[in-house]
Amino acid sequence: MTAQGKALWTSSAIAEAVKGQASADFEVSGVAFDSREIGPGDLFFALKGEQSDGHLYVDDIYAAGGAGAVVSQPVDGPHILVSDTTKALNDLAVASRARGDAKIIGVTGSVGKTGTKEALFAALNRASMGKSHRSVKSYNNHVGVPLSLSRMPAGCQYGIFEMGMNHAGELAQLTRLVRPDVAIITAIAPAHIGHFPSVEAIADAKAEIFQGLTHEGTAIIPFDSPYYERLRKAASRCTKNIVTFGFDEQADVRAVDIVPAQGGGSLVTAHLRDDGEGDRSLCFTVAEPGKHWVSNALAIMAAVRAVGGDLAAAGLALADLQGLDGRGRRHQIDLKNGGQATLVDESYNANPVSMKATLGQLANENCDGKKIVLLGAMGELGDKAQHYHEALADDIIASGARTIVLVGDEMAYTSTRLAKIIAEKLDHTPKISHVAGSSEALAEVAGEISDEDILLIKGSNYLGLAKVVSALVGGE
Ligand code: ATP
Ligand code: MG
Repeated sequence: MTAQGKALWTSSAIAEAVKGQASADFEVSGVAFDSREIGPGDLFFALKGEQSDGHLYVDDIYAAGGAGAVVSQPVDGPHILVSDTTKALNDLAVASRARGDAKIIGVTGSVGKTGTKEALFAALNRASMGKSHRSVKSYNNHVGVPLSLSRMPAGCQYGIFEMGMNHAGELAQLTRLVRPDVAIITAIAPAHIGHFPSVEAIADAKAEIFQGLTHEGTAIIPFDSPYYERLRKAASRCTKNIVTFGFDEQADVRAVDIVPAQGGGSLVTAHLRDDGEGDRSLCFTVAEPGKHWVSNALAIMAAVRAVGGDLAAAGLALADLQGLDGRGRRHQIDLKNGGQATLVDESYNANPVSMKATLGQLANENCDGKKIVLLGAMGELGDKAQHYHEALADDIIASGARTIVLVGDEMAYTSTRLAKIIAEKLDHTPKISHVAGSSEALAEVAGEISDEDILLIKGSNYLGLAKVVSALVGGE
């Protein structure tokens, strides 16, 4: 909280942080660099990109009630003049991190960052209403992370930041801004493998997050990962506090028992190895279905314990999770011919490991109707695209899907491999179609859904499968 009251920042504090000249005294209640996100009282950063220049939108932000702008050329309206607005955003992030004494948690990994970040936020907020801050959406890159830091109120107790990367070296920079007290790696997988020579290189790039850990900070790593030793080695160069999570009995925070919970989630009994205050057993429900979500929940419990949070409250929060749009939200859809089907919306993201996790989850679902999958191609796999799209066919067959709609070019590999498996091994023939885009996919799938079916929709965001979800969910 600032001297003036509840403002997020005052113009003088911003000017000092970014070494700029304030044209007037003003206070701001929020920060954004997208002019469409500016609301009354917000601060606008006029960033210059390769194709865009935020200075073009300064008039709009004042019209929207924006309180001021950080600019590199003078404008009519309250502003702070700097030489480089991108650097200024980073400087404000640094100042934000330096003020207050919030415990900071950074979340990275090839999959599950946003889901884990949101669930961890809910877990920490449960016991301390209104005292936690987190990055919104997947704001996890070189501008999203400093923006999220700049938005952190001075008096909050916990700050949770998603941190992503497409290339080696990116997380090393981000983690120096965030300086996490706790850094989580959710999982290592061949996501964005097109930008990396190997999955080992991805593990190394993710492990850069540990380089920014604060003194005595805690690294939280997945024990069951094939890259565990690699991650541990990297973490141990940065801290002696390493907590592992997983299903193996050697993991520090481990699931000792998992039974299906009503409504599709898991009832988990977890064991937390002695951290100086004795061993602990915890029983909690994870509302999100799937073993991968139990894994995320274990990482969350490890983090809650590391920051001295309330584990019991965290357990209650995990029982209340509701899938995020595009990442597991379930909808009941009313069918024209009467009856209802379940739609699982995973339309935001797809890579080999999240496909495997979600199709594995579908295999475990009981349903009185049939299982339908509408799957989009997985992006950013480079020259490994054929390999991973072919391998996907086995997971699709194992899921028990009877109707299979494939979308996007690379799915040709999946389709060919499916035909081979069906001819060689199956005593039934699922209905398979392969289409170019989301509108054809909608036309293909709409007529296939009947009472009690489960329909999984999953694909890389660029395919626009969210439009299929909206069309099917309609006025819900
Ligand atoms: P992005 O890089 O796009 O920001 P992300 O890492 O934030 O992705 P989420 O959006 O949280 O990932 O999750 C994407 C999908 O990954 C989920 O819909 C789910 O299918 C799957 N997923 C979540 N957690 C795990 C996990 N621990 N292991 C495997 N798959 C997971
Ligand atoms: Mg994300």
